[in-house]
Amino acid sequence: MTFLYTDPLFLEHDPGPGHPERRERVSHALEVLDRAPVPGVERRAPRDATEEELGLVHRPSFLSELRALRGRTARLDPDTAMSPRSYDAAVRAAGAAVSAVEAVLAGEAENAFALVRPPGHHAEPDRAMGFCFFNNAAIAAEVARRRGARRVLVNDWDVHHGNGTQACFFDRRDVLYQSVHRYPFYPGTGAAQEIGAGAGEGFTVNCPLPGGQGDGDYGAAYHGLFLPIAEAFRPDLVIVSAGFDPHFDDPLGGMRVSERGFAAMCCALREVARSSCGGKLVLLLEGGYSLEGLGQSVHACLEILAGRRTESFPAGTTPAAARAVETSREILRGHWPALGAR
Ligand SMILES: [Zn+2]
Repeated sequence: MTFLYTDPLFLEHDPGPGHPERRERVSHALEVLDRAPVPGVERRAPRDATEEELGLVHRPSFLSELRALRGRTARLDPDTAMSPRSYDAAVRAAGAAVSAVEAVLAGEAENAFALVRPPGHHAEPDRAMGFCFFNNAAIAAEVARRRGARRVLVNDWDVHHGNGTQACFFDRRDVLYQSVHRYPFYPGTGAAQEIGAGAGEGFTVNCPLPGGQGDGDYGAAYHGLFLPIAEAFRPDLVIVSAGFDPHFDDPLGGMRVSERGFAAMCCALREVARSSCGGKLVLLLEGGYSLEGLGQSVHACLEILAGRRTESFPAGTTPAAARAVETSREILRGHWPALGAR
């Protein structure tokens, strides 16, 4: 069984006219799913995240500042704005991530997809940024740790680097963060040399790509870098920051990933989860600004989650992607024997 968490509140967060992170991202994806329902996917209503759960990632001063803006409009950075319902939507988006993790860890569902907005992976412990307020993935990972998951893998395929998630776990080895993203690009972080610090050295894995890469290139990043490390890490839960802005039709991303590529990434991570933790896998919506690209890609991933379809990456890696993957492999080889000798 696959649970799909979504809520009408997610449509009420309005960052302003003309903003790409618009309500139709979720409503259109739901229309696609209404037109072509995926058997084995059951819709569930999420709960709110508690103050305590938000506080696992965010500082008390930040939480009280944001709470004070409940019911008001406010601009937090040049592209991150709140409408009167934004605070409530953000609390429930984090709660949907937590709900999904709880259901999967309790064995109520094999896996789950939280179709939420606002997204979360740019949010830092004391800062909202890049359309994000609370870091849904980081909060979900922290809750999972407290619910008995000893090791949590967070894989982030959004076209932007998840600076917030990386910052939360940079010095820790219990939460492994992997990101493939365009670089240099917003938000500026995510170089291959950023591999974690202290006890967490080697437990941050970045695969920066120059832009213009497609399904086969992402296949190189997964097969050459992410999957061998993920299998050696043996996570008790896999969380995916599933941003669909690497889609070829996306107005912001500048990548060339198709529905097949997203399905192949989802399928590969489902295999990691199956081999290491009985299939415990949670996808969280991050970016994705082409309504059609987003809707079709969410549908494809749900087909993978529900076991209605498998997918593999097409052959063919461009030289730029091959070089990028090899650079990351070289930097991390000493930490992960699974990457093989030179
Ligand atoms: Zn993004």
